[in-house]
Amino acid sequence: MELSKRDMYRFPWSGNDNPIGWLEVTDKCNTYCRGCYRINGMQGHKSLEQIKEEIALLKNWRNCDNISIAGGEPLIHPNILEIVSYIRSLNMKPLILTNGIKMENNIGLMRELKQAGVVGFTFHIDSEQQRPKWKGKSEIELFELRQHFADMAKEVGGLFVSFGMTVYPGNLYMVPEMVKWANKNIDRVHGLVFIGFRNTLMEGEYDYYANGKKVDLKTSYAADNSDESYLTSRDIYAEIKKNFPHYETSAYMGGSQVHDKLTWLVSAQLGVKGQMYGSIGKKVMELFQSFHHLRYGTYVIYSPGNKIPKIALLLGLLDKGVRQTSRNFWKDVLRHPARLFQPLYVQSIGIIQGPDLLEDGRVDMCESCPDMTVWNGKLVHSCRMDEWRLYGNYIQPQRRQTEVSNGVVISPEAIPVVDHSASHN
Ligand code: SF4
Repeated sequence: MELSKRDMYRFPWSGNDNPIGWLEVTDKCNTYCRGCYRINGMQGHKSLEQIKEEIALLKNWRNCDNISIAGGEPLIHPNILEIVSYIRSLNMKPLILTNGIKMENNIGLMRELKQAGVVGFTFHIDSEQQRPKWKGKSEIELFELRQHFADMAKEVGGLFVSFGMTVYPGNLYMVPEMVKWANKNIDRVHGLVFIGFRNTLMEGEYDYYANGKKVDLKTSYAADNSDESYLTSRDIYAEIKKNFPHYETSAYMGGSQVHDKLTWLVSAQLGVKGQMYGSIGKKVMELFQSFHHLRYGTYVIYSPGNKIPKIALLLGLLDKGVRQTSRNFWKDVLRHPARLFQPLYVQSIGIIQGPDLLEDGRVDMCESCPDMTVWNGKLVHSCRMDEWRLYGNYIQPQRRQTEVSNGVVISPEAIPVVDHSASHN
């Protein structure tokens, strides 16, 4: 199915009313991930006082339902328990984005965080990490580690658990494997997040300016080549769709500059352990967001519970996706009556296509960016916060001036390059 905005619900989130507040408590990390957009250890751990200030700003400015605690690696921050309970005390849901290293053999820490009020974890695990004890392991081998964290969280109970993966052309083939594994573990894996890899050419067709001054790009996503930086959300969607007919997206976010880009694609699949039935449609996604806003005053992204009462299948009366899911469910019950007594679960899949540098130098971001964070008392895109940390402002790419001959504008690659070394021989 060609993805069409008409068949999906555009999240109603805005800069001023957004379920997510992105909080970076430290830029220190205990591993290194290729594709990370944070320079490690430039400022270290933030003080608890500064962190509390940022949490309050996010709540007041964005009316958040959840605070996504990130870094660097948030679990190495000495006050992580106080941070979690402070967020909970402000009636918001603290979710921790972590590589999990500090918790790998420490279920006690997971229990303490649960006690402090954490709503759940997004574990970032992929083969492009320099992870102690797991270096060089393939994505397939890393399922053992993913299973370990999923089982650990199941044992603690009452936690939202999802797994994130940065997608490169080289591991795109792994996306269906992740979905298959997650579907098999639908009782303990609440979601998956796939983020298309992005970097920026240091030397290419663009010069970079900040505050009107030309600068050298020193961010962690500056690179000598950007050959891998092209996967779109549609590419990742297509890889899943061709392997899982039950999978369908029901909500999206667009671009900030262009209108043919889907920066966020979200699906909510329904199934029992051992059998998937379908995905909810745009109507139920809209109902869920609007109902939560009416009832709690905020939009929503995370909820610790993933069990769905079967009566919810009656929503098929208004929602095409649920109607098809319900048909598949009852057909299966006729074949396997025991399914009727198995719990029905929902499992989300999020696909994020990050910033794209456009031909004319504009940078297309995610509209109403859900991951805005606080820097120096203002809200900035977390994926470009290092531009503020290094240059005090966003970088403005400017396409390099091309040489003009006889009034004809010729492109850079058409300019003949004289190989001066040849003349010296
Ligand atoms: S624009 Fe916002 S949501 Fe999109 S990748 Fe950047 S920080 Fe994430």
